[in-house]
Amino acid sequence: MTSPKRKSRELDIPEVESSKKTKLSSDEESEASEIPISNPNAAPDSHIDHKAAIAYWQGTEATVSGVLGGFPEVSRVDIQGSSNFLTKLRRSSKHHPTSKKLRRAADCGAGIGRITEGLLSQVAEVVDIIEPVKSFTDAIQGKPGVGEIFHVGLEAWHPDRDGLGPYDLIWNQWCVGQLTDVQLVDYLKRMVLVLSEGGWIVVKENLSNHNLGEDVFDSEDSSVTRTDTKFRELFEKAGLKLVSTELQRGMPKGLYPVRAYALQPR
Ligand code: SAH
Repeated sequence: MTSPKRKSRELDIPEVESSKKTKLSSDEESEASEIPISNPNAAPDSHIDHKAAIAYWQGTEATVSGVLGGFPEVSRVDIQGSSNFLTKLRRSSKHHPTSKKLRRAADCGAGIGRITEGLLSQVAEVVDIIEPVKSFTDAIQGKPGVGEIFHVGLEAWHPDRDGLGPYDLIWNQWCVGQLTDVQLVDYLKRMVLVLSEGGWIVVKENLSNHNLGEDVFDSEDSSVTRTDTKFRELFEKAGLKLVSTELQRGMPKGLYPVRAYALQPR
């Protein structure tokens, strides 16, 4: 899921195996031969279905526990880690030093605005919210420091076309797994166009622990969990350079590792 998530114990069993295990009666068998069997070699992100993803999130309660997949206790350590990460970035920045507030930030795939409330609204004068689920953004409306709210998926957000920005900070956490690889690269390329000089794109996500080093599709919220290698490849394709990266410390045992990446145009 695009939220803290328990590591899967069955990652070495390709999904197709489970369908093979199902015993079919002879009737079903003749019918089954007509049904195209899903290609076991299909890329994990090819299974992403935005409608299914939105349906999942619409059915999730608008609370910290809801957006954090039932691990609300992770929020504190996560926000603290993010705050330290950002402070370190800004300490060595001539454009956005810690001595003055950022002008505008974007909270992308914001959920109920947990990061805006805990971090972004404290470091930026205005925070725009991008979140496709209305019941989540209803929880954010009118909160201090909140600017524009956009009800769209990141794959359909075109701030460049709409004359928005510039943003000093574009924060993406536990949500880019909802996009396919191609969508993610295109999205990041668009973000470069609305980033201020010296600004950062931050991506903070779970990392796949697949034993063959593959991304993993999660049918529950129709998302992929990517490997560190894949993330770096996609950032490169989007024309970004990695300026800093940190593993989130203090995550509960048994959950996926979480890594933050700070990116700037090359
Ligand atoms: N970033 C927030 C919320 C994480 S939960 C936090 O860390 O607290 C994942 C969020 O991604 C949900 O709010 C869900 O509605 C949103 N989401 C689902 N599909 C998306 C898409 N295509 N683009 C952007 N966000 C999406």
